[in-house]
Amino acid sequence: MKEIKTVALIAHDNKKPEMIEWARKNKEILKKYSLCGTGTTSKRVAEATGLEVKGYLSGPLGGDQQIGALVAEGKVDIVVFFCDPLQAQPHDPDVKALLRIANVYNVPIATNPATADMVITSTLL
Ligand code: PGA
Repeated sequence: MKEIKTVALIAHDNKKPEMIEWARKNKEILKKYSLCGTGTTSKRVAEATGLEVKGYLSGPLGGDQQIGALVAEGKVDIVVFFCDPLQAQPHDPDVKALLRIANVYNVPIATNPATADMVITSTLL
């Protein structure tokens, strides 16, 4: 396994404040990882924390699919994906595809802050 694990960060618009709060809270832990994310999420997290976050396309423009491809290639080890359960997303098929591919490859995918806290502090990492 790679020495430095990669964490992908994605948050739907209504969940971006929670993502920023979560990233701030876990900044010291996240420092140890290589970070990437969808366009706006990566930019906002980088601005809020000072952490380097490699940005891909915005989610609705293909970013979720890019993260999914990285999961399939074994280049992402953990996905933190705060999805909005209360609002329809134009890119819902991409959201489902990302959840699916993470399950295909048994990659941990945390879809809310409570789960993300448990994953990121797990001794299994
Ligand atoms: P964004 O994409 O980070 O570019 O806003 C997230 C998403 O909606 O999947």
